[in-house]
Amino acid sequence: MSELSVATPGDMAELRAMFAAAAGPMNFIAGGTDMLIAGRPLPMGGLLIDLSRVAGMAFICADDGGIRIGGATTVAAIAADRGLALRLPALAEAAAQCGSVQIRNRATVGGNIANAAPAADLVPVLVAAGARLGCIGRDGASCELAICDYTPGRGHLIAEVILPRNGLLPYSAFVKLGPRQDLSISRLNIALLAEFQDGCFGDVRIAAGALGPRPLRLPLAEAALAGKELAPATLRDFLSALTAEVDAAIPGRGSQTYKRRAIAGLGLDLVAQALGLSPRGQLFEEAAQ
Ligand SMILES: Cc1cc2nc3c(=O)[nH]c(=O)nc-3n(C[C@H](O)[C@H](O)[C@H](O)COP(=O)(O)OP(=O)(O)OC[C@H]3O[C@@H](n4cnc5c(N)ncnc54)[C@H](O)[C@@H]3O)c2cc1C
Repeated sequence: MSELSVATPGDMAELRAMFAAAAGPMNFIAGGTDMLIAGRPLPMGGLLIDLSRVAGMAFICADDGGIRIGGATTVAAIAADRGLALRLPALAEAAAQCGSVQIRNRATVGGNIANAAPAADLVPVLVAAGARLGCIGRDGASCELAICDYTPGRGHLIAEVILPRNGLLPYSAFVKLGPRQDLSISRLNIALLAEFQDGCFGDVRIAAGALGPRPLRLPLAEAALAGKELAPATLRDFLSALTAEVDAAIPGRGSQTYKRRAIAGLGLDLVAQALGLSPRGQLFEEAAQ
């Protein structure tokens, strides 16, 4: 294999030209927080493209059509964006809970998706919101993929994350459970996006991480809330559906018992947070009994 060479394109045109010219293996590095972890094998040859200085790859742009986030946008920028916090609070919350200050300042949304960790914190929110990825293929051509259809390791550069308006439901939340308060990789994380009016849920989308090789939608849990009144009986059905989702996702695993209990507690926090209610209110106390 050829020696490893590192390229640092300054803009998208230069980046595309590198795609066209590269003959051998091509890899990307953005924040380096996953790639440079001790013990991980680094690319041994070919071209390593540093995305951290590409003008036009780090942006957050919201308009009537939805929200677009550049693939090299840092997790810190996502956590700090006031427009995002209003339109998709779950994503701002997931970003705020990702790693430490130092990690968030380097880590990018593209890296979080491409690294494809089962517990990646931004991904459940993006899956629930029906995100699409604006990519550049190995041949330099642009293409758009649903986030669920993205397969890492195929040479696709994630140039931007597209959140269509119809996926941005007005109420949303993200909660995670980890071994520690800070700097904690999720043992379970879950995102909820919902419509809610006059005490009733409308459309509901829920996705969870660390329940399989990649974050997944939870259709039983969605159906337990969608179109239902916010009441203790509804919440109890929701908790039963969440435990059923765990049983279906990881049957017989060592962590099944722990996760089916943990997800019930997370589920109540999730609904309370999305609707701006106290999880210690009477409604949630009754549901937990
Ligand atoms: C101490 C520590 C704590 C952490 N805590 C958390 C946490 O709480 N939650 C969490 O979700 N993650 C956590 N992480 C993991 C990591 O920080 C995130 O996954 C981060 O978002 C990765 O982004 P990056 O830019 O650093 O990726 P990099 O390390 O630069 O790249 C990771 C992979 O993605 C590929 N890649 C990067 N950008 C693109 C792109 N635009 N298109 C295509 N491929 C691309 C690279 O080729 C590489 O294979 C933690 C990591 C560390 C070291």
